[in-house]
Amino acid sequence: MDNSILADLTFDPARGALLYNDVRYLLIRPETLIAFQKAAEEKLGAGADELLYAGGFTGGSLSANKYREVFKLTDAQSVEFMAKMGTEIGWGKLTVAKFDAANRELVLVVENSPFAAAYGKSERGVCHLVRGVFAGLASGIFSRAVEAREEECLAMGNPCCKILIRCH
Ligand SMILES: [Zn+2]
Repeated sequence: MDNSILADLTFDPARGALLYNDVRYLLIRPETLIAFQKAAEEKLGAGADELLYAGGFTGGSLSANKYREVFKLTDAQSVEFMAKMGTEIGWGKLTVAKFDAANRELVLVVENSPFAAAYGKSERGVCHLVRGVFAGLASGIFSRAVEAREEECLAMGNPCCKILIRCH
């Protein structure tokens, strides 16, 4: 199988747990997350964006730290690893368009985002989980607070999603 994550995924039937390198994962339909996102938007408007972003940020920080250690990755390799992993766990086709450690800048391109596909049309980017994951990763690498913007999104009618991460 041409998927290193799925190839190493283990299943513990007694616990009902899927594990990758002893880290638990779960499969979830994009519609489940998008229903949560839309319900939060009903109550909070654009403020809801930060909820999924915060969730992604935590996951991204934890994963980046964990796999950096497990696979002894450099900064650039961790960024590539996270993009490959994202692709292999079905978050769309993720490509690192730019990683500039000196200027603390990361640009991620996502083709075929399942979040945008499930969301439908939007005036602003909707892929907050991905944005958060890579902000969490970048914040660890750059050792400071980052700003992450989704400049283009499939849901906005762009051909793919483009996430820009910079330091303040
Ligand atoms: Zn998007």
